[in-house]
Amino acid sequence: MSDCIFCQIVDGDIPSRTVYEDDSVLAFLDANPLSPGHTLVIPKAHHERLNDLPADAASEVMSTVHALTPAVEAAVDAPATTVAFNNGEAAGQEVPHVHGHIVPRFEDDGGRPIHALVSDRPDLSDDELDDIAAAIEDGV
Ligand code: 5GP
Ligand code: ZN
Repeated sequence: MSDCIFCQIVDGDIPSRTVYEDDSVLAFLDANPLSPGHTLVIPKAHHERLNDLPADAASEVMSTVHALTPAVEAAVDAPATTVAFNNGEAAGQEVPHVHGHIVPRFEDDGGRPIHALVSDRPDLSDDELDDIAAAIEDGV
């Protein structure tokens, strides 16, 4: 996709600070980091969302996230990381090419956990939870 920023990084048309590369995956420093070492992991092929990613590409991306996370933490001496995908525009995904964020976290860094993502949590009944669980199970 010629108008995709991350495809242009894959093609070398936009420079990046690459930290890992193989045939199918690229990882590079985020240009606007939330913390030192903030790293993005992307499939080289253009897929907009996790939902569009073939299973083999998803495995390769996750395997790279798994390998890189301790290396990122060690590089910046971070005791923890938040690892996440903004999956879709409504979730805050701005670049429509799948990317995992590895964000180093530090004591008292002012950041918050995944549980702070939403301010209004739903109050779901047992029946509603049962229906949701069944619908997800049916959809896999
Ligand atoms: P999103 O909000 O889509 O999950 O995250 C997109 C991320 O890509 C942001 O953290 C942003 O700083 C980063 N980003 C956007 N454009 C570029 C770029 O040209 N180079 C690099 N290295 N990162 C970028
Ligand atoms: Zn792309």
